[in-house]
Amino acid sequence: MIGEHRGACRARWRVEVRGVVQGVGFRPFVYRLATELGLAGWVNNSPRGATIEIEGDRRLLDEFLIRLHGERPPSCVLKRMDSTPLPTRGESSFAIRSSDEDGPKSAAILPDLATCADCLREIFDPKDRRYRYAFTNCTNCGPRFSILESLPYDRARTTMKGFIQCAACRGEYDDPTDRRFHAQPNACSRCGPQLQWWDSNGAVRAEGDDALHLAAVALRDGQIVAAKGLGGFHLWVDARNQEAVMRLRRRKRREAKPFGLMALDLSTIQSYSHVSEAEERLLSTSAAPLVLSRRRSDAPLAASVAPGNPYLASMLPYTPMHHLLLAELGFPIVATSGNCSDEPICIDENEARTRLSDIADGFLVHNRPIVRPVDDSVVRMVCGEEMVLRGARGYAPSSLAVAEPLPSLLALGAHQKNAIALACGTQIVVGQHLGDLDTRLARELFARVVDDLTQMYELTPQAVVCDLHPDYYSTRHAEKGTCPIVHVQHHHAHVRACTMEHGLTGPVLGVAWDGTGYGEDGTIWGGEFLRVEGDGCERVGRLRAFHLPGGERAIREPRRTAVGLLYEMVGDALFARRQLAPLDDFSASEREVLRGMLRASVNSPRTTSAGRLFDAVASLLDLRHRADFEGQAAMELEFAALDDKDESSYPFSLDASGVIDWEPMVATILDEIERGESVGVMAARFHATMAEFIVAQARQIGESVVVLAGGCFQNARLLTTTVERLRAAEYNVYWPQRIPPNDGGIALGQIAAAAALIRRRE
Ligand code: ZN
Ligand code: ZN
Ligand code: FE
Repeated sequence: MIGEHRGACRARWRVEVRGVVQGVGFRPFVYRLATELGLAGWVNNSPRGATIEIEGDRRLLDEFLIRLHGERPPSCVLKRMDSTPLPTRGESSFAIRSSDEDGPKSAAILPDLATCADCLREIFDPKDRRYRYAFTNCTNCGPRFSILESLPYDRARTTMKGFIQCAACRGEYDDPTDRRFHAQPNACSRCGPQLQWWDSNGAVRAEGDDALHLAAVALRDGQIVAAKGLGGFHLWVDARNQEAVMRLRRRKRREAKPFGLMALDLSTIQSYSHVSEAEERLLSTSAAPLVLSRRRSDAPLAASVAPGNPYLASMLPYTPMHHLLLAELGFPIVATSGNCSDEPICIDENEARTRLSDIADGFLVHNRPIVRPVDDSVVRMVCGEEMVLRGARGYAPSSLAVAEPLPSLLALGAHQKNAIALACGTQIVVGQHLGDLDTRLARELFARVVDDLTQMYELTPQAVVCDLHPDYYSTRHAEKGTCPIVHVQHHHAHVRACTMEHGLTGPVLGVAWDGTGYGEDGTIWGGEFLRVEGDGCERVGRLRAFHLPGGERAIREPRRTAVGLLYEMVGDALFARRQLAPLDDFSASEREVLRGMLRASVNSPRTTSAGRLFDAVASLLDLRHRADFEGQAAMELEFAALDDKDESSYPFSLDASGVIDWEPMVATILDEIERGESVGVMAARFHATMAEFIVAQARQIGESVVVLAGGCFQNARLLTTTVERLRAAEYNVYWPQRIPPNDGGIALGQIAAAAALIRRRE
């Protein structure tokens, strides 16, 4: 750290700076500071951050270091500064040198940044030379990760390399006093990227500002626009136009999954949502994510934006193109990923012409290439903290610093909501959300991103880490390679992701609740209690198991799960019962098939999944029997409880081996249904009971630290109730915040588990 260098008045130091220093205006800042203090030397980007050599009066050097830390640019994160004395050279001026390419790559890559206030002012100022220029940026904002080809971050290694700066731009770029000094993507309408408007056949109809106008005309007309943005394509449609939104759903083959919204400013979002102060802050960060907020009952939006959902996901414009368009429109738009159903988002305009041609009525495109898809991030406020549900634009790649150096590891994550991670030195990097690995395009993207990130960080992994599930595409990919493999059980990884995020080192009781994960005994786990300590993981408790008739199909059909659950309780007698919502949803012949399956235990795997228990209860309460996407039924159960304050819980039992029996709870729910209890009350009591499961288990196990992880904890009601009750019982509770609780966090947990294992072996 900053040291005392006594001796002669004049001195020279070499300062190695680590942290987020590239692409944030750090070098220009160093230049200005050194010049102001009359110090000599140079600064450059190094693969690990930045290097400064600084020479001059010793007292001024001290001041330089203090101000370097205190006055650094807003997006700059200084993790470490090491200074060593050097012989003086008698230089008289300060310079910015070109990048130093040698050495290990560990400089944190900065995510893409939303347009800053200064740039925003310029694009709406008719007297400014960047008036209405859609690609305006400066050192405080603009594209980073999505245009970066390799490290270190310099224009020649970005997709801006093909654009030669005009004299005016070059002047700004070279002027240390300018806001655009060494702003790598610097451009203007004379020398930079341009917009184009294509009709539905992909024929060019307009350029520049005219293209933007035509996109606005199309949207006003209820048409669907495919727009190339920062990290990929969006599909846009007027969010007030029910017919147009429905058309988008039909064409995109997306029945009910909520769409994201983009609105010009906070007051527009407030016109349809209740936005808390914390949510306002999240919306306004330079990451500009989609933020969940409670929908107003009188929201002037199409119902099909988020059918049956009391929350809406909104974001603010994050590039000049978005600002210009929304200012012109004057109404919010649906801005959903530019893809078809579960494929990855499209990043190339020529590819979009074929992939999105059945969906879009027109294309707003530009000629600045996107290196890798970076979707919009999704966050929400829960328990007074931010929770990232999807980490992509503005958040990825996210880097975590650890105290002890880690083995070099590549972790390939899970199968749904995939994101990969790598460990090098004292840094763990988690890549962007890639989505489910079911389609060919998703698998190709996955393989490309694995190569991309390992090359960027020049990682030679000592081992590749993957899930225990033999059929996950990520597992199969790991097994194709020659690198040693470490398999980590899915729920173990969920818990480790959270302990790693919070830097927990002692023993914890991990509660891993999700939809499904491959268990060590080959059954489907998902309602697990794991004691995690050192490199070990012991299953100390679980939910009572039940059959899932139809296996995978049960994920899309909560009514199957409900039948499996009830069959576990009453056996074959179930099929003689009348007026049971899930059963009544099947035809007589379907019921016979189910009965045969369950009797013979055919295609009916056993599961301990908490997520499936949510589904089953949602179906019992007649909320949803068939789901359009995984988790829909569980979400609706959460929403049913939303305005109900009932905190009483149902009976259940916990045996000495840690098995929680839900049967007394389900039996009581069946009685209440018969008595005509309100669905809201039953949903609320169910959530309280699930929280009590955890408190009871914590008491039995006796660890003072409890970690909640897995997709079930995206449920705000469940998380809030559990945290409150555990805290009241004096447990220390942790849950995922910066890294998603869902399978997007698995890769981080895989790194943590594998590192612990390798450390012990060594
Ligand atoms: Zn800016
Ligand atoms: Zn220019
Ligand atoms: Fe999971």
